[in-house]
Amino acid sequence: MTSDHRKRGIQTQAIHAGERPDPTTGASAPNLVMSSTFVVDEEVSFSANNLSEDSPFVYTRWANPTTKQLEQKLAVLEQAEACVAFASGMAATASVLLSHLSSGDHLIISNTNYPGTAEFARDTLSRFGISVTPVDTAELDNISNAVQDNTRMIWIESPSNPLLRISDIEAAATIANQQGALLVVDSTFATPIATRPLQLGADLVMHSLTKYIGGHGDAMGGSVCGRQSLIGPLRGEALVHYGGVISPFNAWLILRGIATLPIRMRCHEENALKVAAFLETHPDVEKVIYPGLASHPQHRLATRQMDNFSGMISFRTANPKQVAERMMQKLEVIHYAVSLGHHRSLVYLMQTADLIESSYRLDGEELERYRDSAGEGIFRLSVGLEDAGDLITDLEQVLQ
Ligand SMILES: *Cc1c(COP(=O)(O)O)cnc(C)c1O
Repeated sequence: MTSDHRKRGIQTQAIHAGERPDPTTGASAPNLVMSSTFVVDEEVSFSANNLSEDSPFVYTRWANPTTKQLEQKLAVLEQAEACVAFASGMAATASVLLSHLSSGDHLIISNTNYPGTAEFARDTLSRFGISVTPVDTAELDNISNAVQDNTRMIWIESPSNPLLRISDIEAAATIANQQGALLVVDSTFATPIATRPLQLGADLVMHSLTKYIGGHGDAMGGSVCGRQSLIGPLRGEALVHYGGVISPFNAWLILRGIATLPIRMRCHEENALKVAAFLETHPDVEKVIYPGLASHPQHRLATRQMDNFSGMISFRTANPKQVAERMMQKLEVIHYAVSLGHHRSLVYLMQTADLIESSYRLDGEELERYRDSAGEGIFRLSVGLEDAGDLITDLEQVLQ
């Protein structure tokens, strides 16, 4: 049974793309192939340089039948030519940055984003002679002004962690194109249900599969989608040589999670709109940031660029450390824990001093702007799939 699911609706794609019943057994669900090696009946080169998309399965660090189904499904969802999966979002991020940049190159990156990405760019890349300019990419002029002759990549995260700033992907792609630089989008908070960055002109889209795409908080993974000429080298160099290969078991769990991604995202958004509206009217809440609220400074861009506002809310209260303390002791439904995008609601205090010192290293006007949004710290709430009323009751008793 071969089907072209590319022309079908996204719910059908989420369920069927990349999968097909097993030709020997007729199994309807995807096979889980844990084998690390494969018996071959012809000589296969031992070099990653000779690897192609139609090479037979040889060794799971190169390619695996279960992982391949996940990669093909993600490629269809992102409307990409090709996809490569990794052991985690950070394995995907580090691979893109190291494989597509070289000594002497310049990178422009969001000045607030996922802390692992921020620290990797600032500390690790500079050790390899790659210069990095962090700017607030939500302001396009900041990107244009940062471009240098040797700018080879622009990396944006939209919506970004933890302030949920939105970057205009289409406009950033124009700037990248003019410069001959790659535009890479970390679309973890958006998912392909909300935004398809490649359609807007991005060259590569990266996901932490650990979040919404897997959706259940029980498997780590990462992915990068784009055209074959960029993904092929990434598989050959990064996957095979850096070795951040996803476990086929995790690939299988994530495949299973994706089947419900479109309907989960609808519920995440519906719940988040209700919880955000509750927080906005609560007297102890000083600020609520949610792209679906008219009060979000980039609500219009969010409406244009996102088909779904996702389930991430950031909010600020007075005495955040005491509120966090109460959350740890008293929350009954919401878990006080890092991570996001799971069916369970999660909340965590992102302390400003911590993030500024270890990850973002902002100063001057940028630091003031950050403090203006985040104060001493901002709560990052990943609204799950529970009943919205229960989530509101749970928050009410810790906000007092
Ligand atoms: C979690 C996350 C990552 C890192 O992914 P892991 O799977 O935890 O390695 C990168 N970017 C964003 C936006 C994330 O939320």
